[in-house]
Amino acid sequence: MMNVLVLNVGSATLKFQVVATDADRMRDDRDVRLIRGQIERIGGESVITLRGADGIARTRTAPLRDLRTAVEWLVAFITSPESGTGLTSRSDLHAVGHRVVHGGEQFQRSVAIDRAVLHAIEDTIELAPLHNPHNLRGIEAARAALGATVPQVAVFDTAFHHSMPEYAYLYAIPYPLYRRHKVRRYGFHGTSHRSIAYRWRTLTARPRADVRIITLHLGNGCSACAIAGGESIDTSMGFTPLEGLVMGTRSGDIDAALLDYIAAKEGLTLPQVEALLNNQSGLLGISGLTNDMRDLLAEAQEHDDRRARLAIEIFCYRARKYIGAYLAAMGGADAIVFAGGIGENSPEIRRRICDGLQWAGLHVEPQANAMLVDGREGCFSTTTSTLAAWVVPTDEELLIARDTVRVVSGLEPA
Ligand code: AMP
Repeated sequence: MMNVLVLNVGSATLKFQVVATDADRMRDDRDVRLIRGQIERIGGESVITLRGADGIARTRTAPLRDLRTAVEWLVAFITSPESGTGLTSRSDLHAVGHRVVHGGEQFQRSVAIDRAVLHAIEDTIELAPLHNPHNLRGIEAARAALGATVPQVAVFDTAFHHSMPEYAYLYAIPYPLYRRHKVRRYGFHGTSHRSIAYRWRTLTARPRADVRIITLHLGNGCSACAIAGGESIDTSMGFTPLEGLVMGTRSGDIDAALLDYIAAKEGLTLPQVEALLNNQSGLLGISGLTNDMRDLLAEAQEHDDRRARLAIEIFCYRARKYIGAYLAAMGGADAIVFAGGIGENSPEIRRRICDGLQWAGLHVEPQANAMLVDGREGCFSTTTSTLAAWVVPTDEELLIARDTVRVVSGLEPA
């Protein structure tokens, strides 16, 4: 049995989990979560939220001036009696699994981190300037806290999408731009889509080769993925996570000519326009109120706010368009599978996305739909539907822990 520390490092936030697992446990879904939580506002008086095996959240604060201090604090806490993990020394942490956002073209699966891998991740900084530097600092901080002998594994958000065919990942722009600058669609949320697809095939007892589904990860970031033969054959995010579905603050698909036009009309630089598309668009941009779907639904219902209604409508319409596109791409599918904060908790949004897909054989069973909230998993289409609808909560951390054990132990990926 291995105790794996899973780290997901953002700009000022560190999400973590300790999972105890091995080959037998992962096969039977008996992995044990010893502790999970997050550290926010690193760099000042940090807010630490912890959930032990009982699942109850406890919050505390500590002055953590940088990521290295935060990881050091975390490792000391996890191995203290107060944590309730049962771990008593640093040597009880056997490996570290890192979420790394961009693996470029090089990384097609999870890998053990050595010097060459570190350099290769550095090389992809250009492709993911907002994310990969944090991930690299997380790797350095874990090494400082646990020593160089503890194996560390990188699990890439892009890796699952490496099975996309050329005609799906290339943009119709001059080909030398791909050769010279690696301009192509990479796709993100891969760990999530893979986790959802794996869980769905476990629940439906299908072999991997028979998995033909459309997964919708609808959280603050949103993406859709067409999965055929168990592999990603297309996904809605592209060169960056900006492309595709409407998201909390991101526009998703737009006409590229808009960049220059908006810059000229608003007196902005191109990086400022890009920031506008990333941070002030999507649900927030349309509604002018919030990026939080819960609040938008409440506004639309309680005050019949026109722009809140519009934001929800555009969000659902775009998602349905992608489902249509992927049904065409795969020649049909067996199920649409919802996940992410919105996908797992909002029967209303799921219904609105599925409404109008009756032609494709999808009929929502309202009671089943209403029951699927708060982490519950299951099917919410009628038994006669030829295209099923499911909710399968995503569990990226668990997948990272399992991949870490597989890589360290030399096991084949599931
Ligand atoms: P995530 O990034 O996966 O944590 O998802 C965050 C998103 O989930 C936010 O936009 C929340 O508004 C949304 N969300 C969480 N609970 C609900 C809910 N009950 N109804 C609608 N949206 C929700």
